[in-house]
Amino acid sequence: MSNVGEFELIARYFERAGHPLPTQVVLGIGDDCALLQPTPGMQLAISSDMLVSGRHFFADVDPATLGHKALAVNLSDLAACGATPLGFTLALSLPAADPAWLQAFSQGLFALADRHHCPLVGGDTTQGPLNLCITVFGETPPGQALLRSDARAGDDVWVSGTLGDAALALDALLSRTALPAATLAAARQRLEQPTPRVALGQALRGIASAAADVSDGLLGDLGHILKRSGVGAEIDAALAIELIAASADSTSARGSFDTASPAQAAALRYVLSGGDDYELVFTAPAHQREAVLQAGAGSNTPVTRIGRITAAAGVQVLAPDGTPVRGDWTSFDHFKA
Ligand code: ADP
Ligand code: MG
Repeated sequence: MSNVGEFELIARYFERAGHPLPTQVVLGIGDDCALLQPTPGMQLAISSDMLVSGRHFFADVDPATLGHKALAVNLSDLAACGATPLGFTLALSLPAADPAWLQAFSQGLFALADRHHCPLVGGDTTQGPLNLCITVFGETPPGQALLRSDARAGDDVWVSGTLGDAALALDALLSRTALPAATLAAARQRLEQPTPRVALGQALRGIASAAADVSDGLLGDLGHILKRSGVGAEIDAALAIELIAASADSTSARGSFDTASPAQAAALRYVLSGGDDYELVFTAPAHQREAVLQAGAGSNTPVTRIGRITAAAGVQVLAPDGTPVRGDWTSFDHFKA
């Protein structure tokens, strides 16, 4: 990066002199490597997520929300493992060193980083098409990370927060559906500024049997758990449909369950296959119900039980009378979309 000067840019927007670092970060930005010292006996949890302009976000998106989202989707992976954040690196490719853009981007990024005591410890900066890659580092007690592989038949299926609103906002922004302004604003907030469920993930250690975060759609991400665990699931359609918060359809969707209602069918589709929610889907043995509710309350995160794990493979979405509900609930796949 040549115009502003790569090092001036890093110093001005990404190095934060005098900012306190957690004890596990021995050395942050400025040397050839950052040095991390996990708490003795803890395991490192590492995850990377890349955001590509035109693919994961609109090129003209508000840079502050982009900064938030780039870190949020990474923290969401730590949450899904029940890990405690330690720090992150940022590899950034930028078309130009635009001070207003960088100022807003770093402000959105650091606001979320500070909330999770997760400092930026290093990275790389280059000129090129807008592209962001963050790697997060976290720690977890050995053997206590929440994995995708340990769901068992008879476990409950739970989700955090609300689902479907991000996909609803995306459809509205792409003019595929019309929404009242207030509904769009609320749904857009969910699309652009997702809340990584970091505290809930940690609270579920030792309680949940399996977990994943919902980035590509509930049934798709639950499907990863089912496949890794060699089990299937039943989802209660009437409970699932309650999970969409901002949908204009949701009020009419509530009440008596009726899949013949187009509003209910649309709401159900957003909940089951909409992506970008960054909630957690997790399983827990039935005897842990009270503990799951306490983990939710203790982390200020709503949790809803929406189904159960079955020995038979596959996912069934069931109406209240137990009959299967049919629909196209394929989840997002970058190479098929
Ligand atoms: P190197 O030449 O060894 O790749 P750089 O000159 O790219 O190192 O970076 C100098 C320092 O600035 C390093 O500590 C690096 O981690 C940090 N850094 C570079 N880009 C970023 C960025 N986008 N965010 C945070 N730190 C960065
Ligand atoms: Mg470099």
